[in-house]
Amino acid sequence: MRLSQMLFYTLREDPAEAEIPSHKLLVRAGYIRRIGNGIYAYLPLMWRVLQKVSQIVREEMNATGAQECLLPQLQPAQLWQESGRWDTYTQAEGIMFALTDRQDRELGLGPTHEEVITTIAKETIRSYRQLPVHLYQIQTKFRDEIRPRFGLMRGREFIMKDGYSFHPDEASLAKTYQDMDGAYRNMLRRSGLQFQAVQADSGAIGGGVSQEFMVLADAGEDEVLYTPDGQYAANVEKALSLPPDKVDSPFQKYEKRATPDTETIDKVCKFLKCSPTNVVKNVLYQVVYDNGMTVLVLVSIRGDQDVNEVKLYNGLTGLAPQYNAKTILALEVPAAGLQQVWATRPLPLGYMAPDLGDDYISPAKNVAPRFLRIVDRTAIALENFVTGANETGYHVVGANWGKEFQLPQHQMDVRKAKAGDRATHDPAQTLQTARGIEVGHIFQLGTKYSQAMGATFTTEQGEELPLYMGCYGVGVSRLAQAAVEQSYDKDGIIWPVAIAPYHAIICVPNIGDAQQVEVAEKLYTQLNAAGVETLLDDRNERAGVKFKDADLIGIPFRIVTGRSLSSGKVEIVQRINHAAEEVAIEEVVPFLK
Ligand code: ATP
Ligand code: MG
Ligand code: MG
Ligand code: MG
Repeated sequence: MRLSQMLFYTLREDPAEAEIPSHKLLVRAGYIRRIGNGIYAYLPLMWRVLQKVSQIVREEMNATGAQECLLPQLQPAQLWQESGRWDTYTQAEGIMFALTDRQDRELGLGPTHEEVITTIAKETIRSYRQLPVHLYQIQTKFRDEIRPRFGLMRGREFIMKDGYSFHPDEASLAKTYQDMDGAYRNMLRRSGLQFQAVQADSGAIGGGVSQEFMVLADAGEDEVLYTPDGQYAANVEKALSLPPDKVDSPFQKYEKRATPDTETIDKVCKFLKCSPTNVVKNVLYQVVYDNGMTVLVLVSIRGDQDVNEVKLYNGLTGLAPQYNAKTILALEVPAAGLQQVWATRPLPLGYMAPDLGDDYISPAKNVAPRFLRIVDRTAIALENFVTGANETGYHVVGANWGKEFQLPQHQMDVRKAKAGDRATHDPAQTLQTARGIEVGHIFQLGTKYSQAMGATFTTEQGEELPLYMGCYGVGVSRLAQAAVEQSYDKDGIIWPVAIAPYHAIICVPNIGDAQQVEVAEKLYTQLNAAGVETLLDDRNERAGVKFKDADLIGIPFRIVTGRSLSSGKVEIVQRINHAAEEVAIEEVVPFLK
């Protein structure tokens, strides 16, 4: 492609809407364009990147025997009513765009496709002989995220590969899950990403075992706990959540204590700059200790009209969404504590584990989340606060942050947990934390959807059983941007070769120079014919502008038909380290191939 014929532009200024480097760079380099809140156009360069990522994903999926298909984005409400998710998704979570057709029938725009695929399985799979089977698609998903941000990282419209497998039993499901683990690792490795697979919380999708694939980057919205020996890694959402068999007990203990006195309420309200009758319902705090340890605290003020109804709730980050405000009930915040804290800066939007946070820190509800800093150890009764995760058999034990507000960051003694799926780590290993971007998530769903929707099959013995099911998602558009977040410098993007929109760009320093143009044209044709995807910067611009643009858009190799032509050579500059080499014109194709 010739730049003179492309919609090619670059911006000098960082876009106002962008907070993180990858977002700024993709906008400035002309890859994406904001159309609305969380809605982006993928311009031609971006589309090439997305197609490359999709192709890698497709190849790895096909290699496992999964089959590609394309499911409808318009989904009848009835399917979601059958699975029991319509109300949660359209109202409680509000993540699904719902619409009404001209016949007054309700529809949703697909945020995920368990319902559609389970319906298909129900209608087409009769016998164990048809199993296992795995279908996947690469498609635009719609989610009315509360806080769309960071460009493609959290869009309201984004591209996902989602796959769904059906099995006669758990063993077969476990096998495919294992295959997916391998496929996902291959996809990310091939895309040039550094990543970490972590144990994950299943969230609203449900099911038991699940694992996320995290691209490690400071801008990540997730927090990962891992041991240096590499044997243990978990999303903090999972690490701090309770084993399923412990969900109720610790909270029930505190339920009785959930009515703070009027004085406390007044102080809280004063502190939050709201009146007890204010519509503020939930406020999230990140408590930052002097040693860097952070804990998220959710304070809920309930009962909009009646002072006597006001209660406070605390919650730990990472509690799965099923522990909604009513069940994550913990403690009143001591009034004394609230005098000891002060707001320092705004909580970065969406910082919190989105699956939980979205529910609780809705700006629409007039909530102003703030960072807090606790300077006095009497501040908030965190001793009680973490007791839930502190009982024998719980995943995290010894994390008694309340006793000593000075808990050394990595001394969370993790003991063997009882619950089956929780791998634990060697207690001698101290936990480290890192920020991660969730690019993929695989789940063993079990029979959650098949049971709800009546998707059964007949076993060899003639018995009718619900299908076992797994689901596997990769955020294609998020992954593409995560690659940038991991690979850029002060001059711009540095694409990994495998997903770069083009491999090489030929810059003609002076387009008035016939020889420069001639060599460039020749190389342009030869390289493209040889499969080296090459751009030609034939614009009537100064060389400096062209080099700057080539760096910004991040093409792995830049070929310059400049001064070295006098000795029959061109200059080839690698984007990653700016290493320059003079290469004989006839050697360029073999050099780059
Ligand atoms: P998050 O925790 O970031 O909200 P999720 O857990 O809700 O993601 P899943 O339902 O597991 O997402 O979807 C599978 C994948 O789709 C995610 O791992 C992520 O890569 C991608 N994804 C999810 N939501 C978005 C979004 N709003 N924009 C872009 N990609 C997304
Ligand atoms: Mg998630
Ligand atoms: Mg989400
Ligand atoms: Mg997920």
